[in-house]
Amino acid sequence: MRETSRKPQATSRKPGVRGLELEAWGSRRPVVVVSKCLLGERCRYNGETISAPVVLSLSDRVEFVPVCPEMGIGLLVPRDPIRLVKTRRGIRLIQARTGRDLTTRMRRFCREFLSGLPVRGFILKSRSPSCAVWDAVVDDDGGKLTGETRPGVFAAEVLACFPGLPVEDEERLEEPSAGRRFVGLLSASGRGLQSSLPPKAKLDSQSRRSTILLRE
Ligand code: SF4
Repeated sequence: MRETSRKPQATSRKPGVRGLELEAWGSRRPVVVVSKCLLGERCRYNGETISAPVVLSLSDRVEFVPVCPEMGIGLLVPRDPIRLVKTRRGIRLIQARTGRDLTTRMRRFCREFLSGLPVRGFILKSRSPSCAVWDAVVDDDGGKLTGETRPGVFAAEVLACFPGLPVEDEERLEEPSAGRRFVGLLSASGRGLQSSLPPKAKLDSQSRRSTILLRE
């Protein structure tokens, strides 16, 4: 995974998700899939850990299902960085040093992982070529930045397969309006107002949309 540095966005003093209550629905807490590194796990490409207090602040109100898609496809820690590359076959997930194209493996992992998961929302790591919701940088096949950003491959599958569910990254969750919206949608999904469990048979066809997301 390679991430570019970006200036932290200005945040208001109003609380984002902190202090907001989810509606109660029995004893069940909503299942939220989270990028594992946001919980402080040592799964990043360089073995470093990161801290995401806004994510941890939700841990007593939701049931986190942590996932590291890059480890899910068998990559180790530390590992050679991977990146999104614009090719004639569309945007591909490539390990630059080895030239390995990991796109198909990643998509297969996503379908297996997401199939049948009773999930209500996603919190994914910004700027990751696997997890970023919208801001993974895209290189050309010579390794130069194209100036474009896209969802990472795992996130593209999520967006395609769960169009009605809240999907945020840890930076947007710090913004009050995005945080409130995320918590509101989680509550709505708890009342059954959102469909969260696509039929298994539909996952394959829905995931084809992720190819479109990466090609547009
Ligand atoms: S951003 Fe995603 S793929 Fe990268 S370390 Fe975190 S969980 Fe793993």
